[in-house]
Amino acid sequence: MSARWSERQQAMLREMGVTLWLPPQTDGVQAPAPAAMPGSAPAPVRMIRPVAASAAEVTPPSAPRPLAARPSGVAAMDWPALREAVAGCEACGLCRSRRHTVFGVGHEQAQWMIVGEAPGEQEDRQGEPFVGKAGQLLDNMLRAVGLTRAEAGPEQQVYIANVLKCRPPMNRNPEPQEVAQCEPYLKRQVELVAPKLILAMGRFAVQSLLQTGEPIGRLRGRVHEYHGVPVVVTYHPAYLLRTPADKSRAWEDLCLAREVLRQTGG
Ligand code: SF4
Repeated sequence: MSARWSERQQAMLREMGVTLWLPPQTDGVQAPAPAAMPGSAPAPVRMIRPVAASAAEVTPPSAPRPLAARPSGVAAMDWPALREAVAGCEACGLCRSRRHTVFGVGHEQAQWMIVGEAPGEQEDRQGEPFVGKAGQLLDNMLRAVGLTRAEAGPEQQVYIANVLKCRPPMNRNPEPQEVAQCEPYLKRQVELVAPKLILAMGRFAVQSLLQTGEPIGRLRGRVHEYHGVPVVVTYHPAYLLRTPADKSRAWEDLCLAREVLRQTGG
């Protein structure tokens, strides 16, 4: 019997054929009374108590895998150690959704280093940076200035890497803490390659390398620096596929990069 309803109120409600809900108890459902026959007294009030779910029936959402600290000593790693550290890295949440880490490809003493922002879907599947249509456009751009990602000497073959080694889900923008966690790997790659020039492609790559919020349009046409290495910035090939009118600007950027390299003896 509920303390909420007086006997008189319950009688009135019973006359109206109203069903009463009582506060949850753990003692199950009270069976409804049989229906009244026509002409007989009104049907008694049906009192239904919700059944409290047992602990076994409640399935808690699975907790995300905890993150691990980035391996120590990245700044002193050689190529095999660095590759292994990236392959097993769980230092930011992107490790939870990646298929493959995307370490980087190319000549390990290349004069030109290409730095993009983060793997897309195809890169995540294949574990290689700049594949698909954007990768083909990059290959064409490189070919136009006598470079290649195919096997060649350090003057012709480039080294290609991204700021982030794992794909952000749904290709969303990288979060600042993801960039901060991943950047030491790129820094070590740059130290090991020791390129004469970095070509930074796309807004996030440029802004991460140069620690600035300025748009590419304001950073183009000048020579910047990343840990002592000259940096020329340009558009990402995926952007150029969407905005072909800017290909002529990308060509100007490549010419500037080639000129910088010539002046530095490359
Ligand atoms: S994005 Fe970089 S820091 Fe994050 S899990 Fe991948 S390798 Fe590690």
